[in-house]
This record gives sequence, structure tokens and C-alpha cells, in this order.
Amino acid sequence: MAIRKLPALVVNQIAAGEVVERPASVVKELVENAIDAGATRIAVTIEHGGRDLIRVTDNGRGIAFGDLPLAVAAHATSKIESSADLEAVTTLGFRGEALASIASISRMSLVSRAAGTDEAGRLDIEGQHRGEPRPASGPPGTTVTVRDLFFNTPARRKFIRADATETARVTQAVEALALAHAQVGVSLACDGRVALELPPDAGTHRRVLDVLGAELEPELLAFSLSERGLVISGMAGRPGIARTTARHQTVLVNGRPVSDRSITHAIREAYRGLIEPGRYPTIVLFLEIDPQQVDVNVHPTKAEVRFRTPSMVHGAVLSAIRRRLREADLTPSFELQRATASPGGGPASGGGPAFGSGSWSWSGPGRSITEFLAVGEERRGESSMEIEVLPVIKHVGEVLQVHSSYLVTQDEQGLIIVDQHALHERVMFETLLEAVSKGNLESQRLLMPAIVEVDAARLDLLEPLGPLFVRIGIEAEPAGPAAIAIHAFSSFLFDRGVEPSEFLLELLDRTAREGVNDDPEAALHETLDMMSCKAAIKAGDRLSDREIAELLAQRERVERSSNCPHGRPTTLRLTIRDLEKQFGRR
Ligand code: ADP
Ligand code: MG
Repeated sequence: MAIRKLPALVVNQIAAGEVVERPASVVKELVENAIDAGATRIAVTIEHGGRDLIRVTDNGRGIAFGDLPLAVAAHATSKIESSADLEAVTTLGFRGEALASIASISRMSLVSRAAGTDEAGRLDIEGQHRGEPRPASGPPGTTVTVRDLFFNTPARRKFIRADATETARVTQAVEALALAHAQVGVSLACDGRVALELPPDAGTHRRVLDVLGAELEPELLAFSLSERGLVISGMAGRPGIARTTARHQTVLVNGRPVSDRSITHAIREAYRGLIEPGRYPTIVLFLEIDPQQVDVNVHPTKAEVRFRTPSMVHGAVLSAIRRRLREADLTPSFELQRATASPGGGPASGGGPAFGSGSWSWSGPGRSITEFLAVGEERRGESSMEIEVLPVIKHVGEVLQVHSSYLVTQDEQGLIIVDQHALHERVMFETLLEAVSKGNLESQRLLMPAIVEVDAARLDLLEPLGPLFVRIGIEAEPAGPAAIAIHAFSSFLFDRGVEPSEFLLELLDRTAREGVNDDPEAALHETLDMMSCKAAIKAGDRLSDREIAELLAQRERVERSSNCPHGRPTTLRLTIRDLEKQFGRR
């Protein structure tokens, strides 16, 4: 085939392939245009997940009648003029590509009345058929209507998912932009149903609550930090409202929702040890940065950015969130359920207080308290649905040890229940972390080497694990083709009565299962985690008065003591307020 220039339609459709993946991409581009036009109100309507109809109406500055054809032409924009402008983009759009791309794969109509004019103009485009602008009537501002998305690109149409899925994506896209632009009133209607109604001039705090749900207010910690030209702020969810998906994690850089690996990593780091692996914190994070310090021209949908100094951004985000989490009292509160527990542990509907049901449920939006407690209860196989009021076994001063597993005490807000294993595990972990930050852990020579029988695969792990062993004070070498000799063992574990061969076998088994972690710090943390679990007091261990007092004193001393290293809570609080409610005193 001879080389030839592609027709404009094909060029635009190729661009659309990058920019418009699904209905939510169209909504995002149109809402961005409305924000760039200075709109204070934006109304989004979609039908059938956006596949049949997407309409975005704004009250922004509009498009002049004569400019309507240009607005839908490729590489036509009013937002930048020269390549120098690319060095510091201050608008959401700048590529001049969105309307042209969308018009090439849908039936689009553009109705706009520019500020200060009396008449609107209208332009209809269907694939390559571009009409002429015609006079129309309408209020100041712009309405873009997109029908039959992908009607002429069947391959793309096949990738549209169920209406509910596409609607959820659209909602997420609108929410992210609305979070970033609290001054703008935003509404979203899906198939005639109001999905979002966000009033203008909300202020960031209000807007975050409007989007995430006002009931989350007590669960959110506002944070802010400004250093070296970076202004970081936002709301960080308490560990209890972490989710199984990253959907409730929104990062906004200069008003632009982005997914950025270094920021995501910093968020995960800040929450390390506070939430369980596989869960994502709920967080909205705003980063304001000199536009010259961030390149937004790296991704067709502008979903990614590139920072000039990513490590500075990473460090600042990490310390902003970490500092706030450290300041906060992260002890989750819970309420006694007022109604009888229904099977499955959920709250039963209606009904007055059911005295004596003895069933507790977590009041927060996270997991039920029975789930929390079930962690410690697994060993005993109690029903995980109902926690009975159990007889007190031990009474120490003002602390009770219940079932040799939980410590019950009080603070100024109410009743405190501590999972002795979980708390001690955290204490051990922090102790180890501190020790290892100062050097290799102390090691104890064994009088007789401990011999562990292993298979070839585990024997082969000795070498890659070598550097880790040095850090935790283990000295081991092959002893023939199917055995390992342990010559020295971590004094810490030794003192806590942990059996060297058992520990080594478990470590090898885990590594055989999960592979050698190529991030040595992460591998070290995982191992310290395992060491703390082994060394910690177990559920079922009877504690002396002194041990109890020491453990509770350490709770005050160590960091992140609200959660065990796996992120499960160590402590729960039942507030006096809740008790009063339960007993009908209020
Ligand atoms: P970009 O946003 O990158 O400039 P678009 O293709 O999205 O490219 O839009 C092209 C141009 O059309 C914009 O630069 C702007 O001048 C105009 N435009 C698009 N949407 C609107 C709107 N809602 N209000 C006012 N002008 C708009
Ligand atoms: Mg645009």
C-alpha cells in the first residue's frame, strides 16, 4: 500500500482510541471543559451507562458562534498557544483533542451561548458529517450532547460493560472532579434518577463529606502540610474504614484527579501496619504544586503526571499523613446493638432495645465488632456471631483479664477492651523495628547446633535469605543434602522461648510459598512481623499483675499501638455515652 495522509475522521478516531475508553472518559473531558470555562454549575445527565446519551450543561463563558467549528476541530484549543505554555499548564485541558475525538465516534451536538451575547449557536456532528453552526436559543453557557457513543466503532462498543458498571465509573469520574472543585455546583442524573447533587461554594471540607457521606465525618482526619512550595491537605480515613478496593482513594494534583505511583506508595506507607494488607485507606488528598514542577503532558487522558522531584512529593505526602495518624487516637469505638442480632450478625430492623441479647456490633462503616473479635476468638471456635457476656476470670486493680485473652479497663471516655495478643504483637514489632534500625539484631550462640531437616527447595533458600538472617541474628548453614544446622539464633526470640528450628522451618515454608521478596526492607518487615507474632503473649495466656501493668504501660509508649502489625485493632472502646444510651439513661 502506498503511503498516504489519513483522512481527518480516521485521525480523530485514532486519537479517540486513546482518549475515550468508555462513557466515563467522555464525561470526564466534558466536565473538565466546563470547569475550564469557569462554570459555577455543571449538570451531567446519562442514560444507559452513557452509551445512549451523555449530556453536560454548564453556565461557563461559552463558545463564540464563529468558533463552534473550531471547538470540534482537532488540535484546536483556546488554552495554550506555544510550547512554552506546555511547561506550566494551569487548565485541565490543553491538548485540543477531546471534542474532535468524541465527535468522531458519536452523534454530537454543541449548543453554546458566549458570555455577553444574546444568541446561542448550535452545531451538529455525526461522524464525518459536520454541519454548519445555526442560530439557536439557550441560556449563557454550553451544552454538549453525545448520543450513541461508538456507533461507528463497533470494536470499542463491545468493551462497554453493563449499565451499572459504566454508571459507577461515570459517578466516580464526576465525584473526583467535584472533589477537586468545591466551588462548582455539580449534579449527576442517571436514567432520570438523581445520583449526585452537590451544592456550589461548598468549601473543601464540606465537599469531601458530601461526596464520601456525612456519616463518615467522625472517621475522617483532616491533615495539612506545607513545605518547600508544596501544599498538601486532605482528609484521611481512620483504619476502620479502609476498603477492599482503592475506589475511595482520590488524589488531586492542582485540581486534577490523577493516579500517581509515588503518591499511592506514600499513602500505603503512611498506613503501614494500621490496616490489613489488601485493604486501601479511604482518603482524599490535595496537592498544590508549582505547575512548572509537574508535567501533565505524559498521558493522553491526563490521568498520570510526572513530578520533577518525585522523592520530595513522596516524602511530603508520607509525612503529612503519617503525622496526622500518629497524633490521632485511633482506638475504634463501638456500640452495643440496640436490637436483637439477626442471623449473619447484621442489625435487625426496628424493635426496641433487646436486653440480654448480649450481641455487639460495630457501629462504624467498617467491619462488625464480631468480625474484629472473631480474630482473637478463632482458636476457641466460639460462634463469631454472638459474643456472650463472659464471667470475669481475673481482677487486677482496675484491670480485668477476661478469658485469659482480653484486658478490660477504662479511660476518661469509657470502657477499654484490649486484645492482649494483638497489643503485645505491636509492642514486640515496634521494639524489633527500633532495634534493627540501630544495627543487626543481637544473636545468641547455641551450645549444640539445632538441626532442621528440609527438602532441596528449602535448602536452596538459605543463600538468598542469607542477608536477612544476618540482620535478624540467625546463623545457619547446610548440613548435608537435606538438613540445615542453626548455629546462632536471635536472642530476642530465644528469650521469648521461641524454638529455633520451628521458627526457621516456618520462615522457609513461607518463603517457599510466597517467593523471596526482592524488596529487602519489605522482607525484613514481614519477618519482624512474624517474629513479633511468635514472641507475643498468646490469647489464653494467664498474665501476672505485673505483666498486665507492663503491657498496658507499653501501649502508651509505642507507636501505632491502636493496631497490630497486620492492621487489626488491638483496642476497642465502648463509650460512656453509648452505655448510657443502652441503659436508657438518655
Ligand atoms: P481542550 O480542552 O484541550 O482545549 P477540547 O477539545 O476539550 O480541547 O475543547 C476545545 C476547545 O473548545 C476548548 O479549548 C475551549 O475553547 C472550547 N470549549 C470546549 N468545551 C467548552 C465549554 N464547555 N465551555 C466553553 N468552551 C469550551
Ligand atoms: Mg478539553
